[in-house]
Amino acid sequence: MSYEANVRKVIPYTPGEQPEGKVIKLNTNECPYPPSPKVEKALKAMDTDTLRKYPDPLCGGLVSAIALYYGLEKENVFVGVGSDDVLSMCFLTFFNAAKPILFPDITYSFYDVWAEVYRIPFRTVPLREDFTLDPEDYMTENGGIVIANPNAPTGILESPYVIEDIIKANPDSMVIVDEAYIDFGGATVLPLIKKYENLVVVRTMSKSRAMAGMRVGYVFGNPKAIKYLNDVKYSVNSYTMNTPSLIAGIAAMEDDAYFEEITGKVIATREWVKKELKSLGFFFGDSKTNFIFAGHEGTRPGESRAAFAERIFLSLKERNIYVRYFKKPRIDGYLRISMGTDEEMRVLLDILKELI
Ligand code: PMP
Repeated sequence: MSYEANVRKVIPYTPGEQPEGKVIKLNTNECPYPPSPKVEKALKAMDTDTLRKYPDPLCGGLVSAIALYYGLEKENVFVGVGSDDVLSMCFLTFFNAAKPILFPDITYSFYDVWAEVYRIPFRTVPLREDFTLDPEDYMTENGGIVIANPNAPTGILESPYVIEDIIKANPDSMVIVDEAYIDFGGATVLPLIKKYENLVVVRTMSKSRAMAGMRVGYVFGNPKAIKYLNDVKYSVNSYTMNTPSLIAGIAAMEDDAYFEEITGKVIATREWVKKELKSLGFFFGDSKTNFIFAGHEGTRPGESRAAFAERIFLSLKERNIYVRYFKKPRIDGYLRISMGTDEEMRVLLDILKELI
């Protein structure tokens, strides 16, 4: 006999590496530019004496800044410690059926981990060969649905009409739409929160607002859904957001011009890199994110796509360039390459030319 019989055992999510030192880091979809100068100013002006006190459990200032930016009410917004935290809260709050929740077989690899840790039954639904989603697959009995749009790691964006068909067909299930990458040119389903009560939309400041290190994520939904989320949050940890994150989050939200500038730069880099990768023989879907999920035929005798992708991944790492490689069925022939600065991408492309 041992206590181990009663341990909640899980196979944890594997985050991308965070290497020390001078590397070209294209492996975790961070922004290559710093956060808004307003964030720096706000943090420098922070009175550290305020750290004696607990932060506002309602996160009122940040919730109001987000609501104002999107033309919504405070009651439509829930915030948390990055979108991982808010997604985890959404799973805990909305997915309590005996029926399995549904999500694509190729998607953000944290979904099955949350399902496992919270003991939520789940079923993965295969994407089509080209990694697009068939809404018909979600018109079957289920205990909830989660869809990343644009999807990760594929970068592919589904039209809001496709997502709406799924929401409409599932009035008895909550549909979580994870829009972590929507700010890089995607069309959002956000207006649909007014039309469907079974929809919540998840966003993050980690990518398009260059604040992965601050950990700020948020959810939009109808007031009742947001209230359910807050009830669960207050039952786990009422003070999720620390004072500096609240201050930085407000400042980031208030600098729209800077947000437009950096997301515009990332989009321009992505479109240029697509052309360059194509001319090197890579193939990929039309990414609407800050990364490209690219495959290539093997270039050595007998080399498979998967062997090629793994060889390039390891060779780049030796040269201090980090991209992401998933050794998993269907996607082991691809590299997920986050967009860096133009200079960083030039270095990557020059080295790729040598390696292929
Ligand atoms: N959703 C998707 C689809 C992601 O790729 C990520 C990034 N790993 C997240 C959510 C979580 O991001 P964060 O917790 O930094 O907001």
